[in-house]
Amino acid sequence: MPHLAGPSPRVLVLGGTTEGRALAAACADLPGVETISSLAGRTKAPLLPHGPVRVGGFGGADGLAAFLRSQRIGAVVDATHPFAATMTTNAVAATAAAGVPLLLLRRPGWTEQPGDNWHRVPSMAAAAGLVSRLGERIFLTTGRQTIGAFAGVDECWFLSRSVEPPAPPMPTRLEVVLDRGPFTVEGERGLLTGHDIDVLVTKDSGGDAPKLAAARDRGIPVLLIDRPPAPAAQQVTTVEAALGWLAALGY
Ligand code: NAP
Repeated sequence: MPHLAGPSPRVLVLGGTTEGRALAAACADLPGVETISSLAGRTKAPLLPHGPVRVGGFGGADGLAAFLRSQRIGAVVDATHPFAATMTTNAVAATAAAGVPLLLLRRPGWTEQPGDNWHRVPSMAAAAGLVSRLGERIFLTTGRQTIGAFAGVDECWFLSRSVEPPAPPMPTRLEVVLDRGPFTVEGERGLLTGHDIDVLVTKDSGGDAPKLAAARDRGIPVLLIDRPPAPAAQQVTTVEAALGWLAALGY
């Protein structure tokens, strides 16, 4: 990379998100920069980012620090999902240990609008504790790895949506929809109406949210799981801002 005197031209993007894919695609236009995307390997057929991709855990913060050194990574953008808290904690520790600059790219969380009836809780366990007091027919959109938290809630019937099938423990009264976004407000409305849903459960993931608009239209409550605490690292909310951060480093 001609204009980069010192640092390595290699950027690591911790991905698994729309933002991670958008950043990898945008980095492909930066002359001389080599962007490696990293995926956890949770899904069998992931949406692949542009350019080189590595898959699987690094082996904790130490493993990631070793990867940064051996691969001569010059900068890391953690574009993982806001609920991928372990990965982000490891990224903060590993980049500090290896002396590599780190940026978090996180879409903003959602904000309540007129007509919304939201109940915020700090954890999946708290959501499971509250859900039966809000309704009986529950649309769970928190992902297959969280379904076990609702396994003991026998008062409710659940519709769960995930990319891949969930595994036990699971609620006894459960129907699973296998689907991957993007979704539409019309489609979400149809799902809520067709299954007579009276509560929507979601993480505060941020981004496009047709399910929230559909819940507002139907006047049903939303049980919203708050994000884990923000890590101590520089953070931006857009791909453009992440590119600006890289530019300031010389990329
Ligand atoms: P997590 O609990 O924070 O991470 C657990 C472990 O998985 C990490 O310690 C790491 O293993 C490995 N890992 C996670 N993300 C990785 C990545 N991008 N590249 C390499 N290894 C990764 O993560 P999670 O919540 O299970 O999320 C896994 C992936 O799914 C992430 O890429 C995330 O962006 C994506 N995702 C998560 C959610 C969600 O709601 N959590 C939603 C949509 C997409 P080692 O310790 O061995 O390095």
